Amino acid sequence: MNANISAEQVFRELADVLVYSGNNDFYLALIQALERLLQVDHVVLAEISPGGYEARTLAVTSHGKTISNFNYPLHGTPCENVVGEGFCLFNGGVVEQFPKDDLLKELKVESYLGMPILTSDGTAIGILSILQDSKMTWPELGREVIRIAVSQIGAEMERKNNEKRIEQLAYQDPLTQLPNRTALQERINQAVSASYRTQTGVGVCIIDLRRFKEINDMHGHEAGDLLLKAVSARMANLLGDQLFLARQSSDEFTVVSTNTDTNGLAQLVHRIHECFVDPFGIGRRRFQVEVNIGAALFPHDSDTASELFQHASIALDEAKLSGLKECIYNASMAEKLNRAHAIHARLIEAIRGGTLSLAFQPQFDTRTGRLHGAEALCRWQDEELGFVSPAEFIPIAEERGLIRELDALVVQKAVQQLEDWHQRGLSFPGRISVNLSAHHFEGIDLVAELERYTKSVGPAVFTLELTESAMMRNPEQALYLTDRLREKGFDIALDDFGTGYSSFAYLQRLDLQTLKIDRSFITDIVDNEQNQSIVSAIIAMAKSMGMAVVAEGVETQEQTEILQTLGCQFVQGFYFGKPVSGAEFERLWLTEKVSEQGVLL
Ligand code: C2E
Ligand code: MG
Ligand code: MG
Repeated sequence: MNANISAEQVFRELADVLVYSGNNDFYLALIQALERLLQVDHVVLAEISPGGYEARTLAVTSHGKTISNFNYPLHGTPCENVVGEGFCLFNGGVVEQFPKDDLLKELKVESYLGMPILTSDGTAIGILSILQDSKMTWPELGREVIRIAVSQIGAEMERKNNEKRIEQLAYQDPLTQLPNRTALQERINQAVSASYRTQTGVGVCIIDLRRFKEINDMHGHEAGDLLLKAVSARMANLLGDQLFLARQSSDEFTVVSTNTDTNGLAQLVHRIHECFVDPFGIGRRRFQVEVNIGAALFPHDSDTASELFQHASIALDEAKLSGLKECIYNASMAEKLNRAHAIHARLIEAIRGGTLSLAFQPQFDTRTGRLHGAEALCRWQDEELGFVSPAEFIPIAEERGLIRELDALVVQKAVQQLEDWHQRGLSFPGRISVNLSAHHFEGIDLVAELERYTKSVGPAVFTLELTESAMMRNPEQALYLTDRLREKGFDIALDDFGTGYSSFAYLQRLDLQTLKIDRSFITDIVDNEQNQSIVSAIIAMAKSMGMAVVAEGVETQEQTEILQTLGCQFVQGFYFGKPVSGAEFERLWLTEKVSEQGVLL
């Protein structure tokens, strides 16, 4: 204790330092004051790490000099006693008592005094240590000074911790500990304003986990959470800390890269894909995660930070809609997206307002020329948009959650048409085919729903067309559902066959009645011998598995003849009949002549 200064002066000096609390250098100012006022050799202020095994210094002075901060393990140091027991004084021989404590050795100290820094609820969060090269004497005044200092430090550390916690809540995703959407936006703003100065590019990639909802629904939210954590850990690890990674919404992550260009962005997209090559193990399950990535670049294709992010989102939408793994933004995407928005909004009205209609396209038996059935195809003539092709609106309906309602409506309308023909004594031979989207395989009970809709006419007049890619999205689920649909009496057809990648072994496990060969094989079948052999192989395979074959998109007499030679029994295409309204279908095909003599093939 400095004997030359009065108690009054001591407290005045202390008060002068305490007003600094809240400032960055408060801790250092305070321990420097302590060193001076108490006339001690070394003062160390440290905070205890969350696990309680380690301490990290916040300020250290030694013989009037500041020492840079460091971490030290608590085990084997007098500080460990302070954390466990509170105030500790080792007056003399402290190095011998704590031989593992290198700091004591290095400073060649003799005595140690430690005080825990406590929060308002009494938890130790730090330690104030005073080290002396000689033995210590502690007059009452010195103790009082230390007590005041320690309580002030405690309040300050608690305040800072709370501040940190609030900041974490505001800027961090609690599940993955990654920066959240707010932090992301700030980061993009920052990067873009820096880039105005440095004239370098900023890239933003949004990564969407495909069908994450399905994982949540099928395996529970706990598994979903674990998967998100695993994904963020792997991405953080593989992408490294040069890149900013955030979890932006439930199943979307965003990566921001600075100092980049078009090549750099393409490379980044590639690196992100590499994070998803290996499956993720959650418990005993393994999940192969697929992603869509949307990317954009500032200033290449965006003028502001918010536009940069918006363009990456547009590119992501485009990737999802076109079934691509990734898309890098370009201006035409914005137009396409606007159109998709308009279609989506109008389609909701069309579905609910009942303005969708059906067209029926006939299918014929090449052996007899007779009607074999018809495919019901959805038609939409919109007041504002005009005629919109299903090739355009079906993917939008699928992507934006309208497809179940739409397909249900198509089935109901087909049932109505059959009832109508039936009531008027017209006989419709064969089956009506309706298309079902892959999205029916997720969640709700498709089987019960279809059974309900078709009750009046019975399932046996329906063939359900599923595309190969729909089946392959979830092969086991497809197997289960098709089996149940078969039990109820529906026929199943594999649509657009040849465009997907289903294996022969898998097809054998499915109970399929019909294969529809995709139009792309038929279009140039006359001149393309390779397609002839493919079609011939498909027919042979289908026959061996007891399936009927329908060739789609037959447009000419010549195509028909080749198909007949190859042994294809059923055909559908413009050559025989375009999709037409129910009334037109009835006029053209449900006649006595067609049913007795068939059409000329
Ligand atoms: P899809 O099921 O393969 O239907 C056959 C498509 O080929 C129909 O197009 C039909 O008009 C067309 N087509 C038939 N014969 C010929 C031909 O000789 N030449 C040419 N160039 N085209 C021919 P559409 O009606 O535009 O339907 C396109 C796709 O939209 C359908 O392909 C189907 O995947 C989907 N789709 C249509 N209606 C529905 C529906 O109600 N629900 C679902 N989920 N999808 C539907
Ligand atoms: Mg079809
Ligand atoms: Mg088809």
